[in-house]
Amino acid sequence: MSEDRTRVETILTTAGAILRAGPICDECLGRAFARLGHGFANAERGQALRTILAMQGTSGKPGTCWVCDGLFDRVDDWAQRALTLAEGIEFDSYLFGVRLTPRLKQAEKLFSERFKTETAEPLKHAFNREVGKAFEALAGHGTVDLTHPHLSFIIDPERDEIGVSILSLYMYGRYRKLVRGIPQTRWPCRKCGGAGCEQCSFTGKQYPESVEELIAPLFLAGADGTEAHLHGAGREDIDARMLGSGRPFVLEIVSPKKRQIDPTALAEATNAASAGKVEVGPLRFVARETVALVKETHAEKTYRAMVSFSDAVERQALADVVASLVGVIEQRTPRRVAHRRADLVRSRRLIDAEATWLSSQKAELVLHTEGGLYVKELVSGDAGRTVPSLSGQLGVPAVVAELDVVDVAADSFPDVADLKIDPGVA
Ligand SMILES: [Zn+2]
Ligand SMILES: [Zn+2]
Repeated sequence: MSEDRTRVETILTTAGAILRAGPICDECLGRAFARLGHGFANAERGQALRTILAMQGTSGKPGTCWVCDGLFDRVDDWAQRALTLAEGIEFDSYLFGVRLTPRLKQAEKLFSERFKTETAEPLKHAFNREVGKAFEALAGHGTVDLTHPHLSFIIDPERDEIGVSILSLYMYGRYRKLVRGIPQTRWPCRKCGGAGCEQCSFTGKQYPESVEELIAPLFLAGADGTEAHLHGAGREDIDARMLGSGRPFVLEIVSPKKRQIDPTALAEATNAASAGKVEVGPLRFVARETVALVKETHAEKTYRAMVSFSDAVERQALADVVASLVGVIEQRTPRRVAHRRADLVRSRRLIDAEATWLSSQKAELVLHTEGGLYVKELVSGDAGRTVPSLSGQLGVPAVVAELDVVDVAADSFPDVADLKIDPGVA
């Protein structure tokens, strides 16, 4: 009993000291004791303390709260402005953040140090939550989400500004590229760097279309976003097809106003529109983290390569050399990519290889490789930069005439069904 009495006295003593120190609002008074009692708002705690203290003869000072400078008085106003910003945007979750001015930070520091309690809630935390509650009440739906909010509001009281950013929409799937000559993503014109020039017919692009540009438009329009990015699990050469079950990718739609889109229907429409060039498999909503997962996984690949020889090669010699290549291949960064990749030597495994001799100057190879092995250089030797190589071992110049990726190892990637679904999306 006496312990309880001491606690109550401590609370009242601290609250009394806060009241006497300067004008203070109920929110700031209450949040010094935020962790006392369940189901109360800080303003209610503050009001109750103020009432009791007034009954004891201690009353507060009039004026604007010296700690928050009246920040809490404008909670409803900020919530209303947030609602205006959110107009026409589909969302299930939100998060508020406030940019405290140096003056507010200083006042809050002083306040929490001078009236140290074990039960206080920081100003930022209390304000963000209160605006959130008011926003939710006005909007009539939505819940706070600390990690993947659909809408993130930032309030800047000093500049009297509020901004919102919309969580991108992420969809995981696989694509097949059925034709050669298309890069995976938009490729800026080499001459003008994307500004537009005569050489690129003022498109700013090196290639008229890309896998990204063939897949993205209907999703971008459906979600009413601002831009779309295709994040691939690696990329095939522009002149290589991507066959088999396709290459995993995540399609990101930036700033989508709509989240309730039907990826299956959009994939079907996309396949109809891009028929003969690109196909996408079933798409599913995933969380942002899947982008890193897909980009960082170095999946094993299987290639089919049509190879041409400059001199005649015997059937048996081809079979022997191809069998001998299975194992570790040392590759110095190929000359064709040296301008954009660090020059170093990598060891990659050729896991399995099969050769079909078609003529003395032509063969078909099926190569199962560790992720990151350069197949064209494995065949040509790249002027001695890849060792061993088909050309080097045969003693005959050899080049890849046609290349297809026929498999990107499915077991390197989580089953689509296992991927975390973007919370709040049906
Ligand atoms: Zn205050
Ligand atoms: Zn150009």
